[in-house]
Amino acid sequence: MAQMYYDNDADLNMLKGKKIAVMGYGSQGHAQAQNLHDSGLDVTVGLREGSRRWKQAEEDGLKVMTVAEAAKMADVVQILLPDEVQSQVYYSEIEPGLEAGNAIVFSHGFNIHYNQIIPQKDIDVYMVAPKSPGHLVRRTYVDGAGVPGLVAVYQDATGKAMEMALAHAKGVGCTRAGVYKTSFREETETDLFGEQVDLCGGVASLIKTSFEVLVEAGYQPEMAYFETCHELKLIVDLIHEGGLDKMWYSVSNTAEYGGMTVGPKVINELSREAMYEALDRIQNGEFAREFVLEGKANRPVLTAMERQDREHPLEVIGKEIRSKMPWLNSELNEK
Ligand code: NDP
Ligand code: MG
Ligand code: MG
Repeated sequence: MAQMYYDNDADLNMLKGKKIAVMGYGSQGHAQAQNLHDSGLDVTVGLREGSRRWKQAEEDGLKVMTVAEAAKMADVVQILLPDEVQSQVYYSEIEPGLEAGNAIVFSHGFNIHYNQIIPQKDIDVYMVAPKSPGHLVRRTYVDGAGVPGLVAVYQDATGKAMEMALAHAKGVGCTRAGVYKTSFREETETDLFGEQVDLCGGVASLIKTSFEVLVEAGYQPEMAYFETCHELKLIVDLIHEGGLDKMWYSVSNTAEYGGMTVGPKVINELSREAMYEALDRIQNGEFAREFVLEGKANRPVLTAMERQDREHPLEVIGKEIRSKMPWLNSELNEK
């Protein structure tokens, strides 16, 4: 069983009197910075000059400085910038401000695990990774609860890195729900695998391919959209609440029998091989190299694929159907 920690295992005093800089005020940055601040800690947000989030962070009651100024001032530097810019910002603006005994903190291990940031030996390097999108990290904290998280130590220069990580997780609210101990390697590789194979990549391809099959077979795209995409949320909600068991219990006997017997034929041995191949490319660094080079080349593949996706018949019909369901109220529908 994975080792878990709760509020009682963590001591916020480890961070009292320390200056924390949270770099970035996006999805995770705005949530974790405000939670740490509301937990009574000394938080400054680091942003680039001219950031539209500068004013927002100040209105939220936080001090704001440039990334370089905040890094120089701080004892604990939490890097909540997009993964693909972290290395460049680290070497140009953060590293010059670090001193022996400081700590750098991540919410995802990519840059450390794949050598994009090689930290000096005299600082602590740890991870506090909420297992949730940022807006929920903030909302559940305000409601008095928290989201589960992961903690890991990569480098323990002070001998106190794990206690610091737990205190940090407490400040963010994660120890309210429980944090699991992991390593930078395990977090990075499982996170990439999940998002590629299952959560983002696998689900998107399942939706698109099953939609295409129905439309190619002559069914109306509206029907195809409802069956392959719209209803997915209802099913996932059941799984989220009570596992596959609750989902099978809740659907009709017809859906249960058909789903149990046909599902393994669709996600089959070939799919399993493809999953192992994806995992191999994560473990041997090939995916990381590809993604880093994609970033350095100004995202040519992402730009093209995003455009192709927007033009896909699923997205075209989906946009129209969702516009007739105003209660969905998705900002993305307006774009
Ligand atoms: P976002 O894309 O939401 O962060 C954007 C922030 O970074 C903005 O404040 C932006 O500033 C700033 N920024 C971008 N480029 C630069 C730059 N060159 N110099 C200075 N500031 C810059 O990131 P996320 O919150 O999604 O991700 C942060 C980390 O958290 C990543 O490591 C990610 O893997 C991890 N994570 C994210 C999760 C999520 O739910 N999104 C979940 C768990 C972990 P500006 O206002 O100027 O644009
Ligand atoms: Mg991820
Ligand atoms: Mg049905």
